[in-house]
Formats: sequence, structure tokens, C-alpha cells
Amino acid sequence: MEVDKKLEHRLRKEIIDTTQICVDYGLIRSSEGNISVRLTEDRYLVTPSGIYKRRMKPKHLLIVDQEGNKVKGKRDLPPSSEIQLHLEVYRQRADVNAVFHAHPPYSTALTIAGIPFPTDVIPEVIVLLGEVPTAPYATPGTQELALTIREPIKHHNAVLMQNHGSVTVGRTLEEALIALESMEHAAHLYYLAKSLGRVMPLSEENLKRLRETWYSRNIEQLVDQVIESLRSKR
Ligand SMILES: [Zn+2]
Repeated sequence: MEVDKKLEHRLRKEIIDTTQICVDYGLIRSSEGNISVRLTEDRYLVTPSGIYKRRMKPKHLLIVDQEGNKVKGKRDLPPSSEIQLHLEVYRQRADVNAVFHAHPPYSTALTIAGIPFPTDVIPEVIVLLGEVPTAPYATPGTQELALTIREPIKHHNAVLMQNHGSVTVGRTLEEALIALESMEHAAHLYYLAKSLGRVMPLSEENLKRLRETWYSRNIEQLVDQVIESLRSKR
């Protein structure tokens, strides 16, 4: 399918804008992290490998096919080393048009410390994200890493990868960014609360009330998922 030039132009700019937001918030540093969007059913616009993100420009972004081969872009720039991770998400989620892979410090620190993501402390996180599972460690840049997120990404818009970072997805770049920011904000608050002393999770009763109050937002399933998993942990 032919790529719409106007759409490509707009999305190139959007990727640069959202990358700068990520860099400003410390969600992506130096040349780390990568972002992609779906242009057509078999063409994806992605960030190149090894580029300093603060200096990245729309012209540096590449178009790849569904195998990850570069079909358009500067000769000296290879596609992101995690392109297989992105393509795995698009294969599993027809509803997803944008994928972020980042190294958010507080969320990633949880995986390094072996602490599950605290889903039950911030109501907004439950409403926006539901559970955030952690996929087992695999070497960055490999097909093996892509396979670790195959199952969790089918049911979650944010997944952490052990000792590595995160994958967040959305119908738009903004949705994927919101998922990333919310997740990191919750991990940061959890860290601060832990530093102060005790962490007080939301009770099951409060979680149920949240479900009733926000019923119109279709979060029933998300809340039930959280309650279910907390019951098995508590
Ligand atoms: Zn990474």
C-alpha cells in the first residue's frame, strides 16, 4: 500500500516532538530508546539506531517493511536495533499504531530490584493502564527479546522488561506517551513513598468503588484484572 506523503510528513514531525518530550522528562537518554508508528499495513516509520536523540531530526527517521528491512532513509543510518520488538507488537495488536521503547529510570529500577509494578497505589494508573506485567530478561536487540513481550502485549498497553526498560503502545503516539509517563509517574511515587516509610495500597473496596464510579469509561475489565491479580499476591 502506498504511503500517504502528508501523513508521513506529519508523523515524522510528531515522532521528533514526542522524542523531545521523552528526553526532557528523562524517559529516554542519549541514544537509547526508540519510537515507531504504523504508516500502512506493511510500512512503519522508525527512529534510527545509535543517534543522539536531542539532535534527531525528521529526515533521520526511516521507513521499514514488515520484516524490518529499510525501504527509505539515509544510507548511513540503520533502523533501530529493537525493530523486531516493535514489529512483534504490530503483529499482535491490530489496534496499535504507535510503539515506544524507553528506559524510564523508576519503572526499570523496580525490575532490577525484583519488585512487581505497583498497580494498586494510584487510581489513575489503574484507569489508564491496568496491570503492568514484567517480561523476563532477554538480550537487547534480539528476536528472543521480541518474543518475551509477545503474550503480555496482547492484553496490556504497558509492559516492563526485566533489567532493561519498557514497551508502551497506543492507537496514537500521544496514547503511547501517556502510558509511558503515567507508568513512570506511578513508579516514581511508589519509590518516594517507600523512601518515606510504609506504602499503603488501595483496598479492594476502594478498587471496586473506582470501577463503579468510572463505569462509563469501560474500565470494568481493567479493574477486575487488577483485583484478581492482587488477590493472588496479597
Ligand atoms: Zn533498550
